[in-house]
Amino acid sequence: MIDINIDIVGGSFAGLSTAISIKEINKSINVTIHEKHKKIGYNREGRKCGEAHSIEEEWNKWIPDKKSIFNELKIGEITVGDKKTVIQRDPGTAFILNRQEFICQLARNAEKLGVNIQTNDKIKAVNELDGNFIIDASGCPSSIKRELGFNKGIKGVTYQQTLEDSNYFISNTAKVIYLGSFGYIWIFPRTPEKKEINLGIGFSNNFGYNLKEMLEKFKEENGIKGEINYTLGGLIPLGLQRPLMYKNILFVGDAGVGSFIFSGQGIYRALISGDIAGKCIAKRYPKKYPYIIQKKFIKWDVVGKIFTNVNFVFRKINPKLVLTSYDYVSRFGGMIH
Ligand SMILES: Cc1cc2nc3c(=O)[nH]c(=O)nc-3n(C[C@H](O)[C@H](O)[C@H](O)COP(=O)(O)OP(=O)(O)OC[C@H]3O[C@@H](n4cnc5c(N)ncnc54)[C@H](O)[C@@H]3O)c2cc1C
Repeated sequence: MIDINIDIVGGSFAGLSTAISIKEINKSINVTIHEKHKKIGYNREGRKCGEAHSIEEEWNKWIPDKKSIFNELKIGEITVGDKKTVIQRDPGTAFILNRQEFICQLARNAEKLGVNIQTNDKIKAVNELDGNFIIDASGCPSSIKRELGFNKGIKGVTYQQTLEDSNYFISNTAKVIYLGSFGYIWIFPRTPEKKEINLGIGFSNNFGYNLKEMLEKFKEENGIKGEINYTLGGLIPLGLQRPLMYKNILFVGDAGVGSFIFSGQGIYRALISGDIAGKCIAKRYPKKYPYIIQKKFIKWDVVGKIFTNVNFVFRKINPKLVLTSYDYVSRFGGMIH
């Protein structure tokens, strides 16, 4: 039998879920993950916040263990102008992940299945790899798409701070405050022992705003206190980032499916797209990958784009008309489920 070799660039959610999915179906396929950092999970990328909802059925396959959860979310509070929506979550459906630990949990599972994980292994050019298929799970911006000149999908910009001993730590409660037309601030509880919060700001485009300054102003206006122990910024790909496949390269996670337009959530999309890519390869229908992904995610992209545009018009007419993402998804999203 001919050996099949798969090279995966990136050892985070998308890369690991692809590897696990391949090996679960066919152990004889050789899978190598190339991760540029010296350690899986416990690196800078792993410090982005980890708010995660189990809103998709398949997500249940990737349930974090106890050690991989900082805080379970029971309440979500979304504010737009003077309108506040409070969402109650069922137990076991929404978390603030210990993202670094969760990635390690996935890596342990992958290694148990025989995946070869090579750390400190930065792929500089795609022709360094000779696998039958290459999985680009290198995140955003994707290093492979950059090399190929494909990095064109819509990207948002973010900046986040982790504050220790914060007066805004509220266990089990996540807050999102929408700003202007295109941005939002999030306040997520992190570790209860340290009363840590993740406070971040995201915009759907870089309009030349200074995100750090805006966040500091917001803290001052709202009396948010706490000692900064970590800061981080980064791009968020909003919605599908085409192409999803090029020759023998499949783009997964941020490099392919991007994040949910309403909230910037990308963890579950990364896991699900990796799962799909793995199945397509192991079951020998890789060319179907773009089609299956489009079918699964396109409705949310369309809803997201309509939502943004409708709110843009509403804000000009009367800000009271503005819909929160929750209103919108439940009122209109439900119709196209
Ligand atoms: C500030 C911020 C906060 C966020 N908060 C949330 C949140 O609360 N909830 C949520 O669901 N989503 C959040 N997201 C989005 C989420 O982080 C991503 O959607 C998710 O990490 C995508 O997973 P991925 O595996 O595709 O890519 P990543 O997690 O970005 O992993 C890419 C991996 O590839 C490696 N790599 C890159 N280039 C190379 C190379 N050339 N060679 C080898 N290895 C390489 C990197 O080191 C990294 O390990 C946030 C994003 C940002 C920027």
